[in-house]
Amino acid sequence: MSQIRKVRGFQDIFGEDAEKYRYVVDTARDVFQKYNFSEIILPFVEDVSLFVRSVGEQTDIVQKEMYVFEDRGGRKIALRPEGTASAVRAYIEEKMFAKGGYQKLFYEGAMFRYERPQAGRYRQFHQIGAEIFGVDTPLADAELIKMVSEILNRLNIEVRLEINTLGKFEDRKKYIDALKKYLKDFEKDLCEDCKKRIEKNPLRVLDCKVDNCRKITDKAPVLIEYLSEESLERFEKLKKYLDNLGIRYNFNPKLVRGLDYYTDTVFEFITDKIGAQGTVAAGGRYDELVKQLGGPDTPALGFAAGIERLMLLVEKTPSKEPLVVVLPIVSEYNIEALRVAEKLRSSGVKTELLLKEGSLKSKMKLANKIDAKFVVFISENPELKFMETGEQEVFSCIDDLIEVLVEKTKV
Ligand code: ATP
Ligand code: MG
Repeated sequence: MSQIRKVRGFQDIFGEDAEKYRYVVDTARDVFQKYNFSEIILPFVEDVSLFVRSVGEQTDIVQKEMYVFEDRGGRKIALRPEGTASAVRAYIEEKMFAKGGYQKLFYEGAMFRYERPQAGRYRQFHQIGAEIFGVDTPLADAELIKMVSEILNRLNIEVRLEINTLGKFEDRKKYIDALKKYLKDFEKDLCEDCKKRIEKNPLRVLDCKVDNCRKITDKAPVLIEYLSEESLERFEKLKKYLDNLGIRYNFNPKLVRGLDYYTDTVFEFITDKIGAQGTVAAGGRYDELVKQLGGPDTPALGFAAGIERLMLLVEKTPSKEPLVVVLPIVSEYNIEALRVAEKLRSSGVKTELLLKEGSLKSKMKLANKIDAKFVVFISENPELKFMETGEQEVFSCIDDLIEVLVEKTKV
């Protein structure tokens, strides 16, 4: 029969990769908890209009990357392409603003985007992310950035930080008009995508990677010249706070992000080590979004990081607990072996009970393959083998053997 394969852009994450995945998530979780964020487990699907209204009608995500379908009840549903829109929806719907508006949430899980699959880019990928609601001060922006860099530090990942400010929607509108005007003069020299972007999403032209487009945008009007005193002041404060925290950054006036909801601060943590998909974490402020989705006027900010991209940068996971294999010499000892294995596990030892049929030799081969550090032979008298040295020791009492293993397997 023909073999069924996984769907294009989707992955099985297993073995060492699964360990890396867990390591990334556990590290992030630990940091989130230290910063007193609480977890939110969000649904995988949302009403399509949630993303249209937040991420933006003209963005790539909404225009061409969403998995949209109708359920059996005729509802138009999307697999979530990102987490912020859902977190904001939940913040409003679950009335989390009741506590004076203040709320700090983190999430973890799968996101779906119909993109061209390549290294570091998949159709199902996974993010960790966090959101802060109800705080206006740029000190919160600095603290959020600090938290992301703490996660990256703990994972031993080296990145550079780029920051920019997009100002408020009205200022940006004026800028967009000026930018459109400028881009129209160079329309024929822009790439095909950017030609379309002039009308639909001109800001995106600024982060086009095509050489010619870059040359053109190098001389384009700059957003920062269109921003209000207030936005500029906020940005200056943020930079000062980052300096104080010892966080290095580059100001990148072309950093715009692909989602419409950002206001003022935006940032990206970037690496050059994994090719073109170099942004590992990104975020910013979205002070208008809660109101825009029908909630009370609430300043907010957040970030998301791609777990697969972090995995590409994680060199090693923490050392593993050593494995003990319990091996009955003949099947008459199976029940005794089961008992010993249970006893080891309840003493905190990672134990594999090898009940597979076959010769002792084939069983030892398997024990080697699964990387056993110790083998306990169950027969008349229990025997302990140290796999690294090949030494063997016979015990008259199994409890003594267990005691030795508990000591030897401590990490
Ligand atoms: P990119 O510019 O790489 O497309 P983006 O601007 O679309 O990223 P965001 O929507 O801000 O990214 O998502 C935050 C992070 O999620 C990214 O920085 C990246 O690490 C990760 N990410 C986004 N899309 C994918 C994908 N298709 N596959 C794997 N990771 C992704
Ligand atoms: Mg993208």
